[in-house]
Amino acid sequence: MSLKKRINLKNSLAFRLTLWYAGIFTVSSCVAFLLFYTLITLFIRDRTDQELLGQVNRFSALLATEGVEAVKSAAVIEAQAAGVKKVFFRFLSLRGQVFSSSNMSYWKDIEIHETGIRKLFLGSGHVFETIAIPDRKEKVRILYAMLSPTVILQVGQTMESYSRLFDAFQGIFITTMSFLIVIAAGFGWFMARRAVSGVEAVTRTAQKISGSTLKERVPVKARGDEIDQLAITFNQMLDRIQTLLTEIKEMSENIAHDLRSPITRIRGVAEVTLTTGKSLAEYEAMAGSTIEECDRLLGMINTMLMISKTEAGVDNLAREEIDLSGLIREACELFEPMAEDKGITLSCNVPNGSSMIGDIRMIQRMLSNLLDNAIKNTSSGGLVTASVSENVNQVVVSIKDTGIGISPKDLPHIFERFYRCDQSRSQTGIGLGLSLARAIARAHGGDITVTSSPNQGSTFTITLPKSLPSQS
Ligand code: ADP
Repeated sequence: MSLKKRINLKNSLAFRLTLWYAGIFTVSSCVAFLLFYTLITLFIRDRTDQELLGQVNRFSALLATEGVEAVKSAAVIEAQAAGVKKVFFRFLSLRGQVFSSSNMSYWKDIEIHETGIRKLFLGSGHVFETIAIPDRKEKVRILYAMLSPTVILQVGQTMESYSRLFDAFQGIFITTMSFLIVIAAGFGWFMARRAVSGVEAVTRTAQKISGSTLKERVPVKARGDEIDQLAITFNQMLDRIQTLLTEIKEMSENIAHDLRSPITRIRGVAEVTLTTGKSLAEYEAMAGSTIEECDRLLGMINTMLMISKTEAGVDNLAREEIDLSGLIREACELFEPMAEDKGITLSCNVPNGSSMIGDIRMIQRMLSNLLDNAIKNTSSGGLVTASVSENVNQVVVSIKDTGIGISPKDLPHIFERFYRCDQSRSQTGIGLGLSLARAIARAHGGDITVTSSPNQGSTFTITLPKSLPSQS
């Protein structure tokens, strides 16, 4: 089943992002519309009020100069000129009784509100109200105003044209917004799909991996975005897992290989002991060889355990003040007989005073492994030199030999567990010495590097900090 089908559309991140995007877009559009609506309503009402006040001012002036009859006929003419369905005028006595008006056939439902007149008496120069006419959609804006101390004018003006304008605006707005919301949702969907497609690629690769192989990698689009970062990190993680698995596989093969020979030998010896007619000395020799093989096996198992423990980190180390100069000299003294036997000169070029904090037994083991290798791989007449130097924070130990050297093909692998170069297969050893030496150096916060040329010799350089890294 494809990934797309498996993720229910409703639950997909792309769908939810699109929904949010379209939702936010709709809400902000509605807010903008409401704001615009309020502003335009206020503006229209204000303009209508200004027009009505203009009428009042003109009629007041006319009343003052030409009298009430002139005002009455001016009102009739004005209403006819503007349109009897647009504006009306009513002249009222102080009791609110109509004594003259323009053509009111269209406006007969409009009443005279006592409250409006009362407010006039209470001192308001004019009173506005907006009323809706029953059975008609339009609204009317009405103004009550004192034309003179005895005449009240009620003037009304329809807001229909404004309502029509507003209705048209509303229609256009809703159509445009609906169209834009559909486009925005489509665009949002496209963007969200684009954004999550990278995550889907990672998931698809992970599914393929869990199903079969570790060789799959997530395609990196080189856009440099977060999804690319995720893909790069995921691929790096896969590289690391693949390397680890390869190492584990190689190690298992090496262990199996290295265990098979001694166990076969032990079995062979045991088989021989079952045959009769052997002398006591022969039985003792066989028992001795079995013990030797067992010791070799135990040594290998113990070294492997020690590597694992050392790789577990600094927490497993003792913290002691180590006189490194003294320790190197002691190691040289220990290996002197071995060097002498092989006709090799062992030179210990170590000034006094180099010291560090660390695990003395571990450092001893590391130096022994390197000196042992140097002497093992150097022919008679050769030279092995141990030296030490230091700077403010570090001590640098160097073990140099003029031996057989290491080929460029082998050089990158010599620190791997159980790796042995072909030319050393005749020598004793199990291929764990350098792995342990490097694990010890790294546990102390340092490292080992090597330079070598075949038939010219090798130099192993150990860099160690003077104090241990802090514990986790
Ligand atoms: P081994 O038990 O075989 O010595 P190591 O891990 O100590 O295992 O070394 C791995 C391989 O590196 C050795 O088998 C050897 O071929 C090579 N090697 C180590 N040190 C030297 C050296 N000083 N000169 C040449 N080859 C070396």
